[in-house]
Amino acid sequence: MSNICGSCGANNDSLLTTCLYCESSLVPPKLDQVSDEDLITEGGKWIGRITASHYASAYDESKCIEITENNVNIELSRAEVDSNTNKYISIIQARSLSNPNMKHMLETFKKDIEIAEKKASERVKKDWMQAGGGVGLCLCIYLFVWIVS
Ligand SMILES: [Zn+2]
Repeated sequence: MSNICGSCGANNDSLLTTCLYCESSLVPPKLDQVSDEDLITEGGKWIGRITASHYASAYDESKCIEITENNVNIELSRAEVDSNTNKYISIIQARSLSNPNMKHMLETFKKDIEIAEKKASERVKKDWMQAGGGVGLCLCIYLFVWIVS
């Protein structure tokens, strides 16, 4: 399904309510017209972005990621990525009640989000451990110099 922006004419993902390119409001999507295939392909794209976005903003939630869509570079904040991904997740969830394929997709997507969260928190943990190791090494050198002098 196409979701054409009335302002700039760009084609946006089915569930978006704000144009990715010019930030104009889009006509709210008619959910029953969005196909399962579109939900899965577009939802998968947003899951990939959530992975990149959470990793990039592990320290600083205001950190954006840059994506390229139709040769246009777009900055996406973590809030935007989260809210758009959640739109896909909630509709896939609603459809999963009557559709086993969508149920499978929902589980896959949820697992992917869990992995993304884990990667982001491991990034912080790893850096803390490195920082801790650095402090320890400095202390050892200091003690060594103190003992030999
Ligand atoms: Zn637009």
